[in-house]
Amino acid sequence: MSAPLTVTPLEADRYTVTSGANTYTVDARGPVPECSCESFRYRPAARPCKHGHAVLRYRAEPLGVLLDALTPEAALDVVDPPARDRDRAEPDPEAVAIANVALAEWHRELATGQRTKETFDAIWLAACATMQAREAMSARLPHQAARFYAMAHAIVQREAAA
Ligand SMILES: [Zn+2]
Repeated sequence: MSAPLTVTPLEADRYTVTSGANTYTVDARGPVPECSCESFRYRPAARPCKHGHAVLRYRAEPLGVLLDALTPEAALDVVDPPARDRDRAEPDPEAVAIANVALAEWHRELATGQRTKETFDAIWLAACATMQAREAMSARLPHQAARFYAMAHAIVQREAAA
């Protein structure tokens, strides 16, 4: 049985995929994700390796991966958000502002060496949700973006209350 694959977003369209003790970098800018593994290098052109497939699945269902990283109670809040967040057609400006601060903070801590790209904490999770929200907005999916922004907002609030 093979190890489960863990997908972690880096920046725009780049991901790391961890499989047991091995970590690969996947560049998903093109139609076929390009992977740093041996298997990808020697396969016929235009065929993703299993790490590329993991990234494609992740991009189709990012919320599932984010939910995996939350506690069960926190995940319930996101799946069943407060009524005011549930049916938003557009992102809540306050949530957008807070999400953007979290993403900026993540970049700042990365730049100053206070964290690495493998520091998986609340700020990382909020930054991931914010990046997903921005991707949803650029894909003209404001309703989906609203959920990701609400998620980033909820993560930051929970962290501040802890
Ligand atoms: Zn690969």
